[in-house]
Amino acid sequence: MSDKPEKFIDENGLRLDGRQINEIRQMKIKIGVISRADGSCYLEWGNNKILVAVYGPRELHPRRLQKADSALIRYRYNMAAFSVEDRIRPGPNRRSIEISKVSREAFEPVVMTHLYPGAVIDVFAEVLQADAGTRTAAINAASIALADAGIPMKSLVSSCAVGKVDGQLVLDLNKAEDNYGDADLPVAMTQDGEITLLQMDGNLTQEEFKKALEMCKEGCRQIMEIQKEALRSKFADDQLAIEVPDEMVESIDIAVTLEDVVEEERETEVEAEASAEEITKSDAEAGSEDAEIEDAEDEYSVEDLEEADADEEILEVEEEPVDLIDEEAGNEDEKVATEGSETREQ
Ligand code: ADP
Repeated sequence: MSDKPEKFIDENGLRLDGRQINEIRQMKIKIGVISRADGSCYLEWGNNKILVAVYGPRELHPRRLQKADSALIRYRYNMAAFSVEDRIRPGPNRRSIEISKVSREAFEPVVMTHLYPGAVIDVFAEVLQADAGTRTAAINAASIALADAGIPMKSLVSSCAVGKVDGQLVLDLNKAEDNYGDADLPVAMTQDGEITLLQMDGNLTQEEFKKALEMCKEGCRQIMEIQKEALRSKFADDQLAIEVPDEMVESIDIAVTLEDVVEEERETEVEAEASAEEITKSDAEAGSEDAEIEDAEDEYSVEDLEEADADEEILEVEEEPVDLIDEEAGNEDEKVATEGSETREQ
């Protein structure tokens, strides 16, 4: 662990990483990164790297854990063994169990669990790289992943922390500020400012606490804009893919051409019918037998007639040998009978 810096805020009011005191770290979001999950999100926030996968709503097993009137939310916060400088022992520990619990509670007021009685919604938050504020980062990612999974929520949840260094309140603590600061106040809230998570380490005066909450509120407002923008662009992209997929453009052209062809053919047919009617009318007027023959030829094409003739010929050819064989067979029978009688006579 690096040593405690002498100063956290310089003479220009900038922090060690160059941020203003009320400035959040850079956030990058990628949605739908785990194809097997119902919803997922990869989020980078400063040097934090978080992956969240959401599964469900799905039937909860064992059944005795099911709630008759709502879905159960399970939230597992886990730090990868390689997420910090010192290797973290795999498996749950007091800290991860606590963070999992408070994070789950941060979502319980917003997720419309009553729609899925007997079901479970699983949220897996994996911290791949930790750099202070991982619980808040994971909540921000989980919120997006839940939305990506299409789980109905009253609001997204956004989360950030305010701390105190050099006697000043600072928004979104970095690692040094988190480790050596005088206070750490992680908060999560809905769009309406309803607080769903609030924890505090260290000491703040009442005034500082109020101001810190206001700073958190502004931080969460900014984060919610980022979350919404990420979701908007994801679903706008999806919609675009449905509306105008590039590969479809060519076939749309082809479809138009085919329609034209069909239309042309229909026009030709209509014309042909009209001229046929005219012919029939004039023939009927003439009352000639030729017209009847012509009509008949219309119904049976020349090929049909030729085929019928050919069939007849084949039948004629086939009939002859059948007769011959029968006759010969009959003769043979007679011959045997004669021979037989001759034999008996002998
Ligand atoms: P949060 O990450 O939500 O701020 P903490 O305040 O408990 O949670 O942790 C602050 C930071 O301390 C973490 O982000 C991580 O960088 C570091 N940290 C936490 N647990 C460990 C650990 N077991 N080993 C090394 N570093 C840790």
